[in-house]
Amino acid sequence: FDSPGNPAHAIFERFLRAGECQEVLGCFVELCQQLGLQGTGLQLYHGLKAALNYWNAKALWSKLDKKAGHKDYDQGTACAGTKCLVVGAGPCGLRAAIELALLGAHVVLLEKRDSFSRNNVLHLWPFTIHDLRALGAKKFYGRFCTGTLDHISIRQLQLILLKVALLLGVEVHINVRFEGLVPPAGKAGGWQAVLQPSSSPLTQYKFDVLISAGGGKFVPEGFKRKETRGKLAIGITTNFINRHSRAEVEVAEISGVARIYNQKFFQNLYNKTGIDLENIVYYKDDTHYFVMTAKKQSLLKKGVILQDKADIESLLSPENVNRDALLSYAKEAANFSTNYCLPELEFALNHRGLPDVDMFDFTCMTRSENAALVREHNGSRLLLGLVGDCLVEPFWPLGTGVARGFLAAFDAAWMVRRWAAGTPPLEVLAERESIYQHLSQTSPDNTNKNITQYSIDPATRYPNINLQAIKASQVPGQRKSDHRL
Ligand code: FAD
Repeated sequence: FDSPGNPAHAIFERFLRAGECQEVLGCFVELCQQLGLQGTGLQLYHGLKAALNYWNAKALWSKLDKKAGHKDYDQGTACAGTKCLVVGAGPCGLRAAIELALLGAHVVLLEKRDSFSRNNVLHLWPFTIHDLRALGAKKFYGRFCTGTLDHISIRQLQLILLKVALLLGVEVHINVRFEGLVPPAGKAGGWQAVLQPSSSPLTQYKFDVLISAGGGKFVPEGFKRKETRGKLAIGITTNFINRHSRAEVEVAEISGVARIYNQKFFQNLYNKTGIDLENIVYYKDDTHYFVMTAKKQSLLKKGVILQDKADIESLLSPENVNRDALLSYAKEAANFSTNYCLPELEFALNHRGLPDVDMFDFTCMTRSENAALVREHNGSRLLLGLVGDCLVEPFWPLGTGVARGFLAAFDAAWMVRRWAAGTPPLEVLAERESIYQHLSQTSPDNTNKNITQYSIDPATRYPNINLQAIKASQVPGQRKSDHRL
């Protein structure tokens, strides 16, 4: 398989297969040391390519070369000289970092955690599957979307993207939390970050672009959130160990049984178990993953929620939830919906070592009013862009998060390309907001059908997009002090 005599090949093979975030980073450092490679960016990528030219590595390079050869990247020079900071190594932060690296930017990515632990499974649209294949996903994860599978666990997706990002020279730092911005002190200064730990050498890093991909709970200062309040919606996610036995393989997945489509199923579930659901999804991946929307009355009746309360935060607070009853509720729903055909369901564990069952409220979903901002201080400009859940929170049961998250990551990369080309700031922002208007309505049906042609150029993805729908004079959210842009 690899050349047994060559230690670098063996390390590279370990890197390809590594299944934990820290293991990936460790293998990568070891690999660079073994090869005597330093530096970052596409230069590092070319160094790796030259040093690892046996067949398995070459198959990956040919994929990445094809990608990197796209005209949008101007052979990796479109953003040469642009310094980016990306916050968050979730799927969207990593995906944005990859595009910025391909554009030739210097990319530093920060992640506050040190592990990828989310078993939950994301639904992938056809373009996302195609995109990940083109990044060599199968080289890192052989089971990636085999047959008709169109989903992946969040952690596997992060692992694939982390490996690609590292190979393309993105500098990744875990255990570092972004806390805010430090404006440039003088004329010759640049924008820097307040970080935790404050001793991190990265506090010295000066950047001109900040991409925030810190998830739904993290939005940088300056961006306003809009809330959409729907009817009360309580979601439950749960994961069970998948032993990949024959019996397990045979059980059919449920890719979304909404109540309106299958009233009989939900009626039977209610009659037999007292569990009352709006919908349920079951995906078989690394784990058996279920996500369901439960009705409050049935959670009260089954003793999962102890007391009814008007305010949703108190309703679902740990003191008001009987954890054992929640586990039974989730397991019973999983067993019933798979016709009791999954043998002996045993909970997978979450990052705290506890049964992986979570109950959450998605009555309110938030989105940012705008997708980007420019700040200026002492003559230094900083472009800030949001991607992923921190731009628009997804509706979990539909799993739209990652598809729209990737679209926004491409749009953000396009914006940085325009910025690096010297386009006037308000024009860059106006174009970004014109594109953002479309994001929440996107679906596999109303985006371009020719997914093989997708690139960071919005015209390849959104049919009939008007990049000037919003004029520079109408850009929302800019501070008064920034009006001279
Ligand atoms: P995330 O995946 O949330 O990643 C954000 C990253 O930023 C995290 O790694 C976080 O640690 C890091 N971060 C946050 N703040 C900082 C900071 N200040 N400094 C440095 N790093 C920071 N979607 C579904 O469709 N189905 C599901 O079942 C589902 N389950 C989920 C379970 C959990 C616990 C979470 C958090 C999200 C879940 N989602 C689910 C949403 C889905 O994961 C996202 O839509 C998808 O991962 C894309 O998100 P993202 O990259 O924008 O953000």
